[in-house]
Amino acid sequence: MDDLIASLTREVADFPTPGTQFKDLTPLFADRRGLAAVTDALADAVAGADLVAGIDARGFLVAGAVATRLGTGVLAIRKGGKLPPPVLAEPYNLEYGAAILEIPASGIELAGRRVVIVDDVLATGGSVGAAQRLLEHAGAVVTMAAVVLELAELGGRELLAPLPVRSLRLA
Ligand code: AMP
Repeated sequence: MDDLIASLTREVADFPTPGTQFKDLTPLFADRRGLAAVTDALADAVAGADLVAGIDARGFLVAGAVATRLGTGVLAIRKGGKLPPPVLAEPYNLEYGAAILEIPASGIELAGRRVVIVDDVLATGGSVGAAQRLLEHAGAVVTMAAVVLELAELGGRELLAPLPVRSLRLA
């Protein structure tokens, strides 16, 4: 699994900002074996969830596939301004500036549901943390986060503690 992810990750230096080593998982998701292996491993990691939440936008690819494998629904956690009102919104800090994540404020019952958050890459943990706060404000029980690739030196796991985090590969 580790070798498969490594071999199908495109490394791009200095994108989107100087000094950032961008990990592009497009080749992994475009590969039949890669997508199946990642889906199976993440589904095993989050088994027991009753809803899979994916973070805009690459998290949607993983979340939909994992939810289908588990037989659960999927929830898209959108970037600010994409959803019609009413919404629940949660601001968070990026390396430069700030952003917002949103979910619909009506139409889905989240109270008491066991939700897992999935994304492609865990970096600082800011977006998973905002997604967790958002879901918890809506009454959900966030049981864990699961990602394909974790950039360990950025401290996302520590920021999110005590939320359990499972990653398929450390970089
Ligand atoms: P985070 O800092 O953990 O909130 O990461 C924010 C989002 O940006 C995540 O959804 C990641 O997919 C993406 N991201 C952050 N840093 C990188 C990176 N070095 N390579 C690829 N994606 C990244």
